[in-house]
Amino acid sequence: MLAATHILGGAAVYKLTGSKGWIGLPLAFASHLVLDRIPHYDLNITWNLFLGLPIILFVLFLAWKQNDALLPVAGFLGALPDILMILQVGGFFHRIHMSFHFEVYYPLPVYLFFIEGGIAVSLLYYISRERGK
Ligand SMILES: [Zn+2]
Repeated sequence: MLAATHILGGAAVYKLTGSKGWIGLPLAFASHLVLDRIPHYDLNITWNLFLGLPIILFVLFLAWKQNDALLPVAGFLGALPDILMILQVGGFFHRIHMSFHFEVYYPLPVYLFFIEGGIAVSLLYYISRERGK
């Protein structure tokens, strides 16, 4: 999935725990593996930066607005497995990461873009809500 979706997923899972870092941050990391189970396109780094940068800025804005410094940390943890893969560190973890990833088949149907888009928008909406609403 896109880094943007993983960032939003990590932030959303953290928020779902009531912003309890001790459980929310490990679950934010684990959210990556769950999202990777969903069939999706994997775009290149350029597209990931193009779509991820505004999301990073938005999560930082929300962290400031909601006074929650761990929200961007959770977003980072949500994207961390792919960052480790790009940096080629964590060989053993890479095998675990890939064992969770859906089995890629070609041609991938175009509607997968819309499914991921729907997931990303839903996560964006969820993390944008004020606490307790
Ligand atoms: Zn991944």
